[in-house]
Amino acid sequence: MALLTKSTFLKGCQCHKYIYLDKYYKKEKDPLSDEQRKKYEGGHIVGAMAQKLFAGGLDVSNISKSRDVLLQETKKLIEQGHTILYEATFEYNNVLVMADVIVKDDKEWKIYEIKSSQKISVTNRTDAALQYYVIKGSGLPIKEFHLSCLNYPRTEVIEMKAEEIPSNLFQFEDVTSFCKEQLTIVEEKIKDLKTTLALPSIPSTPTGDHCNSPYTCEFIGFCNRPQQEINEGLFS
Ligand code: SF4
Repeated sequence: MALLTKSTFLKGCQCHKYIYLDKYYKKEKDPLSDEQRKKYEGGHIVGAMAQKLFAGGLDVSNISKSRDVLLQETKKLIEQGHTILYEATFEYNNVLVMADVIVKDDKEWKIYEIKSSQKISVTNRTDAALQYYVIKGSGLPIKEFHLSCLNYPRTEVIEMKAEEIPSNLFQFEDVTSFCKEQLTIVEEKIKDLKTTLALPSIPSTPTGDHCNSPYTCEFIGFCNRPQQEINEGLFS
């Protein structure tokens, strides 16, 4: 059973308390803002556009909601000779990732991670490095890993009709060398986060600039509550 996912790994890189709360105190999350909801929805629309660019693939995530089934189906589809998969699912060292698009190239695979922003960020590179570590560790031979972002503002892109989508909607960056260089660092970070998740109580990280960087933490409301109120809420 996976202990970490791509999402929890990135939360842990932002703040140890964040990953701990996300794992054990999900009910304490702040409600999703309209802006965050729109961002998630926009991400799904852009993801669907990317699948059209790599047409003819099979979306593994449509097969099941069970992670174990997704892992088994990914393995089976690869063995059956499928050459393009969306949301292919891999696990290694108790970390589970789903790759946006994987494309077979001869005997190896090219991985594409699709972002709905106009710029590739440091966090996007960390995300790519984690995926590379897990997918490689799971046994899939990787030829290249590419990050992709938009050439147009997301707000414009999500309003585009099918016939309006430009051929240069995405720009790509090959981050394979970066991912290879990060393998040891990723492994150390996973170890560090597993140690955090094994703690007997919530880490006492104070709030600060990191609460909004790179993303707005989902537990700001919880962390800003007076300590006595938190204790009463957790143990009532
Ligand atoms: S609000 Fe800040 S301190 Fe609290 S979990 Fe989130 S990032 Fe960590």
